[in-house]
Amino acid sequence: MGHIGFAILIVGAALIFGWLMFALWVLSLVLRIFGKVIGGILRGLGILPPRRRRVLGNVMLPCARIRCAANNPVNARFCRRCGAQLSNHAPAQSRQAMAACL
Ligand SMILES: [Zn+2]
Repeated sequence: MGHIGFAILIVGAALIFGWLMFALWVLSLVLRIFGKVIGGILRGLGILPPRRRRVLGNVMLPCARIRCAANNPVNARFCRRCGAQLSNHAPAQSRQAMAACL
């Protein structure tokens, strides 16, 4: 009978542990949602500054390599996929230089 009692204890401990993890997960989820709601209300009231959104569309710079063509942040100097140097200022400069020549 000692073995069965031990097994019940182990299973019970595992169940309690599982429930504890689940409770923690739910708690973190609720806190996250609560924080979002509170942050939204405070932002709406003007207490907190509005959240800056990352604009992904027009601020990305595609890699010059045709086979890569990975989107990189504008301030990046090298491609994050292939490592090629990004010349994000070169076209404007060359255009200015051309305009100066003309
Ligand atoms: Zn690349």
